[in-house]
Amino acid sequence: MNLSEKLGALPTPCYVIDEEALIHNLEILQRMEKETGCHVLLAQKAFSNYKTYPLISKYISGTTASGIFEAKLAHEEMPGSQVHVFSPAYKDEDMDELLDICDHIVFNSISQWKHFRSKALQHGNVSFGLRINPEYSEIETDIYNPCFANSRLGITLENFEEDEISGISGLHFHTMCEQGADTLERTLAVVEEKFGKYLPGMKWLNFGGGHHITKPDYDVDKLILCIRRIKEKYDLEIYIEPGEAVAVDAGYLVCTVLDITKNGMELAIVDTSAACHMPDVLEMPYRPFIIGSGLPDEKQYTYRLGAPTCLAGDVIGDYSFDKVLNIGDRLIFTDMAMYTTVKNNTFNGMPLPSIYLLHGDGSTELLRQFSYKDFKDRL
Ligand SMILES: *Cc1c(COP(=O)(O)O)cnc(C)c1O
Repeated sequence: MNLSEKLGALPTPCYVIDEEALIHNLEILQRMEKETGCHVLLAQKAFSNYKTYPLISKYISGTTASGIFEAKLAHEEMPGSQVHVFSPAYKDEDMDELLDICDHIVFNSISQWKHFRSKALQHGNVSFGLRINPEYSEIETDIYNPCFANSRLGITLENFEEDEISGISGLHFHTMCEQGADTLERTLAVVEEKFGKYLPGMKWLNFGGGHHITKPDYDVDKLILCIRRIKEKYDLEIYIEPGEAVAVDAGYLVCTVLDITKNGMELAIVDTSAACHMPDVLEMPYRPFIIGSGLPDEKQYTYRLGAPTCLAGDVIGDYSFDKVLNIGDRLIFTDMAMYTTVKNNTFNGMPLPSIYLLHGDGSTELLRQFSYKDFKDRL
């Protein structure tokens, strides 16, 4: 059975999480843990489909959260695994609960640390860290670059008040996005040059996310060497917290063609939306792949795919196909597990796609479906 047959009967639009592909990624991440003794944490902001958490917990050490909600989700749905949290600023009313459910809490500034320090240090089971900004990043898009000028994310060396760090057991940096181990190697050199003097006093160092570990061309061996070198040199526990690498290429978005029209070229309207269901297409921006499609004019019939919303720019991209598209045809977008179900919205009253899990035996399981009520309940 090929993929379109397996997904052929599902109502659209729907996301389908591919369990086998997820396991493939998790096996690579598990190998990292085994070969280096590091701890891999799922960054839930990329992927929080918690019905897969029992599976994920068999392979990696735990999760990291961006705040109280993600931390609670991990605490509830991945019991027994580590829960870490980093937020640019915590609220007073959330701190007691965070202290109860988190293993690591990372603060973004010395002032946040001072604000929570006395309460925090009453919790002997929790380890506290500071996010540093090494002011080195190879990310070229500012919106994804935590080290751009005047960034609020992390403490620069100039603002690192070393006489305030007693009680801090670890440092955290996150400066990468879809990058390779060579970028990490160069980043670590800067981290060591600037903050190396503090590392011998720490228990752990967290390398953040943005490591493209599960992509075929990633140099896993170099990552292993980087982790081992830092771990041994400073006697530290090493954490990495990939989001994308856990869920990359591990899901689909299936849609149906609703209409075919023309305006200078062939246009197809589909029952999904870039703005609502795959916002990174507009935000990154990037062109998602559709199974069986080519670049514009690469195959015989080219269409511009757009959403049934009022936003003129809600265009997914231009695609060519071997056959003409007809109303009712289904299209399958790939790599739609990460940064989709966590980011989607009901702008224009667009329905939220259902979420299915595709098992290794080809069967599909409905995880969640949504209705008018989900739209109304948020307003
Ligand atoms: C976004 C983020 C991650 C995960 O990044 P990916 O690019 O999905 O691997 C990890 N840690 C922090 C602090 C982040 O902001």
